[in-house]
Amino acid sequence: MIPQKIYMTDVAQLRRPADLQAQVRSEAHAWLRAPGPKQVWNPAPHQYIKQAGVLMLAAAFLAAAPGGRAHDGPHGRAQAGAEAPDISYTVHLAKEITNVPPPRQITIPDAGGFRVLKGDFHIHTLFSDGWVWPTERVIEADENGLDAIAITDHIEYRPRLGGPERRDKKGKITNIQLRDENDNYNFSYELAKPEADKRKIILVRGTEITKKTMPPGHFNALFVQDVNKIAALQDDYWKMFEEAVAQGGFLLWNHPGWEAPKSGGIEKGAPTVFTKTHEEIYKKGYMHGIEAFNSKNFYPVVAAWCTERDLAVFADSDIHLPESRNYGLRNPRRPVTLVFAREKTLESLREAFFAKRTVGWAVDMIFGQEKWVRPLFNACVEIKKEAGGLAFVNRSSIPVTLKAGGRTVELAPLATATAEADGRVKTITVENWLVGKYKPLVVPVE
Ligand SMILES: [Zn+2]
Ligand SMILES: [Zn+2]
Repeated sequence: MIPQKIYMTDVAQLRRPADLQAQVRSEAHAWLRAPGPKQVWNPAPHQYIKQAGVLMLAAAFLAAAPGGRAHDGPHGRAQAGAEAPDISYTVHLAKEITNVPPPRQITIPDAGGFRVLKGDFHIHTLFSDGWVWPTERVIEADENGLDAIAITDHIEYRPRLGGPERRDKKGKITNIQLRDENDNYNFSYELAKPEADKRKIILVRGTEITKKTMPPGHFNALFVQDVNKIAALQDDYWKMFEEAVAQGGFLLWNHPGWEAPKSGGIEKGAPTVFTKTHEEIYKKGYMHGIEAFNSKNFYPVVAAWCTERDLAVFADSDIHLPESRNYGLRNPRRPVTLVFAREKTLESLREAFFAKRTVGWAVDMIFGQEKWVRPLFNACVEIKKEAGGLAFVNRSSIPVTLKAGGRTVELAPLATATAEADGRVKTITVENWLVGKYKPLVVPVE
């Protein structure tokens, strides 16, 4: 767990009548001093009290306030003279409410000569079978400390949208009636884009090609230009892949161990297999990456496939519910794909994807090809020889479990640790950073 600093400030204090009164008075003074004409809504409908009247009333109120009697009357009425009505002002509490966790930042130093971007490239919204408006996905990503996301609503499965009205067993409406002009597969991207620009989150245009058979299962098409053109070909996945690639798209095999026989996935407990169809898809150039982590699942065998075929590794949330409901407010984070990019731009991200410079990070585990996991480790963790032992410094938010000379060392995010070790310890095993199916990274002690 990454410790979260919780700020408990003076919200409770502010609830004290004396403090509220002080705030009302200071706001009222500021308002009175501000230049320009002043109007106030009179409790009697459709009547304004003009400036002169307001000044008089405010003066009466302020005169009454210091004694602390203004709100103490039998029915909350001011006691400062019979003709003074009970006036008050809006108290803005929002800026004082600070007892919420701060944004969850993720610290990863530059590695291997690249900037390491944090992303989630498999996300659903109300525009397929998710429960969240697209804009909110961008805000969640920003608050999670991510640099980039892709909203990848299903093409073939959009139960919340269009068609005749649908109801569940209890009679509750389960879909949104779309107008013709909104029946647009790019819509979730278009809705989210302005928010992404505002927050400097890279938003990748994408979709999930969702075939109800395995193979091929589900594929994300990322960096495409127009999802409608892919959706138009949905009767034939080969044509969909072809169109996505023609648009410059990157194709990602999602959740290869997807256990859901009734929906087309494999049986629970069945081995995860790179089928002949997948081999054919790969050879045609329609598979560039693969999810080693999806949601809370890990598929160890993907390690071998990635290395043999040079596929980019992904760790994605495939989130349908609000992020905090899936992962909690104070948990470390959702699965994150770490991308070794030249800079934080859409084009750099795309270049890094096709160059297969990615590492997956989920549930405190790192998995990727050794050529990227090793430089990442070297950038994140410093190992120093000290008298009688070793000292470790973690400069990242990634937890590290080390085995040094038979001892296990937990090196927390952004923390230091030491281990007793004699001169015979020549290597350290990083138990939660994998570079093969069940193969941890081994680093030399120099
Ligand atoms: Zn899927
Ligand atoms: Zn999905």
